[in-house]
Amino acid sequence: MPERCAECGAVLSEGSTCQALFEEFLSLEYTNSAYAQVHFLTVACFMIQHERYSQEALVWIQSTLRIYLEKELTGQQLRQLAAKGTVSATRTWKVIRQADAPSLPKIAWSMTITDVAQSIHDAERYCEQVKQWAHTTLRQMESVH
Ligand SMILES: [Zn+2]
Repeated sequence: MPERCAECGAVLSEGSTCQALFEEFLSLEYTNSAYAQVHFLTVACFMIQHERYSQEALVWIQSTLRIYLEKELTGQQLRQLAAKGTVSATRTWKVIRQADAPSLPKIAWSMTITDVAQSIHDAERYCEQVKQWAHTTLRQMESVH
């Protein structure tokens, strides 16, 4: 029986979890440069849809994603932009959401990690799907704030 992820609503095949898919994506991105270019987006989408970001991190990631997607930055430019927000010496807030943080409005995500997982064996298609995932996630995020 297919199950749904309690956090992002993805329909999961038996025995599969979003976390396991995420780890599979990360190991590909760490070892294969064709996949690495979308690494920032993969992490951002997963963290957003699984409510892992603190309120401050959400604000930051939302504006970073918007800049990236509007200006169509390259992977290199994005890394520079991302580095500015994640250098802990200049940042006083926490990235990870605390257990006692108020819950976020539920969003019925129209695209989840399982959609991207269909394309895991084709780097070009995978990158397109991750970008699409980022576009969709940002658009849905903005529609509730
Ligand atoms: Zn999930």
